Amino acid sequence: MEELAILGGPKAVQTDPDDIFTWPIITQEDEQAALHVLRSGNMSGTDVTKEFEKEFADWFGVQHALGHCNGTAALQAAMFAVGLGIGDEMICQSMTYWASALPAMNLGATVVFAEMDPETMGLDPADVARKITDRTKAIMVVHYCGHPTDMDALMAVAKKHNLKVIEDVSHAQGGLYKGQLTGTFGDVAAMSLMAQKSLVAGEGGMLITNNKYMYERAAAYGHYSRTRDLTSPDLTPFSGLPLGGVKNRMHQISAAVGRVQLKYYPERMAEIQKAMNCFWDLLEGAPGIRGLRPPKDSGSTNAGWYACRGRYFTEELGGLSVQKFAKAIQAWVVKKIKR
Ligand SMILES: *Cc1c(COP(=O)(O)O)cnc(C)c1O
Repeated sequence: MEELAILGGPKAVQTDPDDIFTWPIITQEDEQAALHVLRSGNMSGTDVTKEFEKEFADWFGVQHALGHCNGTAALQAAMFAVGLGIGDEMICQSMTYWASALPAMNLGATVVFAEMDPETMGLDPADVARKITDRTKAIMVVHYCGHPTDMDALMAVAKKHNLKVIEDVSHAQGGLYKGQLTGTFGDVAAMSLMAQKSLVAGEGGMLITNNKYMYERAAAYGHYSRTRDLTSPDLTPFSGLPLGGVKNRMHQISAAVGRVQLKYYPERMAEIQKAMNCFWDLLEGAPGIRGLRPPKDSGSTNAGWYACRGRYFTEELGGLSVQKFAKAIQAWVVKKIKR
């Protein structure tokens, strides 16, 4: 047997990782869409964004989609949409990107962290139930690293305590939980479409909901140019003004690129799913490591496999530390993967 790479032996992977895969996939169609916006002289308009919103809502099968300048803004608008405000508590999982949680503080609310389920990397519904107080208003669900949260159990807790549910779909665009798209379970969902996510518009975010009033609150919060179209009696007095004192409009170059990306996303996502499932299938039975993915035939998927994760079991490798294990894996590859 050859010497292991970590002990100075040959490297098993000879291909430069940069040559294997680049994301997002940008073609002439994306370039043309961006150029069209530049040449039309309407970068700050909403015509392209409204087309994108319509296609986005159709894809999710929801009534409303509202484009935002980024995912953070879309999440804050979603929190405002469900009525989160001063003195309220929002339960959020303890590991996520900060934008799932911190915008609640801009609204005067408090974030209460709950434990995660190690099998789903999402909220542990039992711990959510323990963290509920008479101030709890909403639960922020994050389908972390693309893995869908246990929505049956979570929605049951929310229903029992009459809580609003917001879904952060920034890692899981197009992902399924028991055959249903993540982002369509709660009252409102928001997601990032920034350049490193699975579904990309550039800097951008999207809010989706079937609730017209919540959609109107989100529009009133940060889209002053749309307030004239609102119909809710408590919002119409603010026509022409942004209730949140922020401006959340999406850049139309982002909307144009997002439209092209969305068009090809389902087929690209299917390729990624095939490749990543093949990767973990080949490792099935290897000691020490298991892919974090929903069980086969569950109808659930890891969407575009954003930041794929596995679980490591020290005891299966005689106590080998995860640091040492990672070092040995990295020694296999010619060049370290750039982050
Ligand atoms: C990226 C991300 C966001 C924020 O989106 P931006 O577009 O970067 O503002 C929110 N939540 C999660 C889980 C994210 O990964």
